[in-house]
Amino acid sequence: MSHTGSSGGQPGPQRTTDRATALSEPTRAYAELVAGNRRFVDGAPRHPNQDAGHRAAVADGQHPFAVIVGCSDSRLAAEIIFDRGLGDLFVVRTAGHTAGPEVLGSVEYAVTVLGTPLVVVLGHDSCGAVQAARESAATGTAPSGHLRAVVDAVLPSLRRAASEGVDDIDGIVDIHIAQTVETLLGQSPVLADEVALGRCAVVGVSYRLAAGAVRPVAAVPAGFATVETPASAESTDPAAPATV
Ligand SMILES: [Zn+2]
Repeated sequence: MSHTGSSGGQPGPQRTTDRATALSEPTRAYAELVAGNRRFVDGAPRHPNQDAGHRAAVADGQHPFAVIVGCSDSRLAAEIIFDRGLGDLFVVRTAGHTAGPEVLGSVEYAVTVLGTPLVVVLGHDSCGAVQAARESAATGTAPSGHLRAVVDAVLPSLRRAASEGVDDIDGIVDIHIAQTVETLLGQSPVLADEVALGRCAVVGVSYRLAAGAVRPVAAVPAGFATVETPASAESTDPAAPATV
């Protein structure tokens, strides 16, 4: 991508609402992430943009091509699993990718000030935050300290899963990812406006810890994430859509 290697002082990605080019930047950004994830899954990472020359080139300014709103899980390091480097990804991580005001503000900063054309919610199987919320709901006990804020932020996803008859942990995780996508758009009119104008897209992807592959589970605008991912290519579960 032309803007991934740009140096400081250059303008950000071209901003346009022209119908012919609407979503081209988000589409290229998503394809770049999927390509990096495929290299990671295949054990052939290129570690782009991690050399001293690039470090110096981006010191004066950043133009990341994607915002990652991911879980803090130590096995979910964004630059590693998407095989990217310095200046590529604007990463916000909280346990269970819960999205409070500081997260929303960080996303808005990246999208409006830096001109980042793609927001990715990154969840994963065996998510401890989702399991903690499930445990809390099952026992009727709230965790102590600020962990309660994390659990409380996941509970709406558990209620949605229950209403949809989903009770397996991976299914609940997928719903929580989709719920986070909706939370970002519902709580941030700034982000929703950027998406409505075609300058940005929001995608929720689920990562599998053992395989290392991501699979899209939600996207706005609908049908945006049509690039085949390593996980969707290998999926044999008819209930798991390859694209959304
Ligand atoms: Zn997690």
